[in-house]
Amino acid sequence: MNSIDYLRISLIDRCNFRCQYCMPEGSELEYLLRQEWLTREEILILLREVFIPLGFTKFRLTGGEPLLRPEIVDLVRDITALPETEDLAMTTNAFYLAKMAQDLYDAGLRRINISLDSLDRDTFDKIIGNRGKSRWQKTWEGIQEAYRVGFDPLKLNVVVIPGVNDREVADLAALTRDRHWHVRFIEFMPIGNAELFGDRAWIPSEELRQNIREKWGLESAEIQGNGPADVFKIPGAKGTLGFISQMSECFCDRCNRMRLSADGWLRPCLLNETGQIDLKTGLREGISPRQLREQVRELLSLKPEINFKQRDSGTEQGMYTRTMSQIGG
Ligand code: SAM
Ligand code: SF4
Repeated sequence: MNSIDYLRISLIDRCNFRCQYCMPEGSELEYLLRQEWLTREEILILLREVFIPLGFTKFRLTGGEPLLRPEIVDLVRDITALPETEDLAMTTNAFYLAKMAQDLYDAGLRRINISLDSLDRDTFDKIIGNRGKSRWQKTWEGIQEAYRVGFDPLKLNVVVIPGVNDREVADLAALTRDRHWHVRFIEFMPIGNAELFGDRAWIPSEELRQNIREKWGLESAEIQGNGPADVFKIPGAKGTLGFISQMSECFCDRCNRMRLSADGWLRPCLLNETGQIDLKTGLREGISPRQLREQVRELLSLKPEINFKQRDSGTEQGMYTRTMSQIGG
């Protein structure tokens, strides 16, 4: 059995973007109230007294948009200061990164994943639901600044949407030829928004690989923290290409993670809510961290049975009611 040692911590369910595949404009999301967020202190209690004693050593901060969380730099400093932390990473849309990258780096963050679905301003703005001044440039500057500051590996996440950005796959892959960047193509998942793209919402990774193979060739590669991605590189390139194929392949057997939502729900699987535990209410009602740890230990033992494979039995109607921004992507 895989050891489960990786916790993805959502810090906030809000976002300054409205990506079509995540929280499209017009979708009536009900945001959490601030007092419903796990506080900085509660997050640290849970890490120190629940997760670390159970063997968790790798953490990722995500959201919603984690850079909107007011204490983000302090949280990074707190978590990297825990002696048991082996790895701390963040996933962000980079819009505020140009002014925050140095502070995050100085607080101890070394790994960052940035969402960038297009190199074309209009397509980018369309995907993120922006109608005002283009937001592409500021996002790009955030990426450049993260690179300058020294984040390594610096990964770019691309959700490939047929008819929207699939024609850019080769251009996005080409970014890795002379930069030490890692571009990862993600199959769109029908979470909370299944009807959005109609019948053919996602393109199998193998189809993308075939296009790149024909253009430049592809060889197998490795990278730190590749998680569920299959990693390749263009021969001679400085960076790598990752393919995350949760729709066309099943990698449940490789899964090493749990997810903690901004309001303190611990989920064993992205798409299966079976067994989830409300740790925040537990803490606030005075359940001791030791008792909570026992609940989490039990959930961990059930995890191999609760997975993406059983996604249609994991929720009441076989539908996923929470979007990625609410679960913590
Ligand atoms: N706001 C940050 C960002 O966009 O990087 C962090 C949170 S976002 C929910 C985390 C990741 O989930 C992003 O890389 C995003 O592209 C991905 N994501 C969101 N909705 C998705 C979906 N329906 N299918 C596949 N990936 C999705
Ligand atoms: Fe915001 Fe990230 Fe979701 Fe886009 S994918 S709406 S940036 S949380």
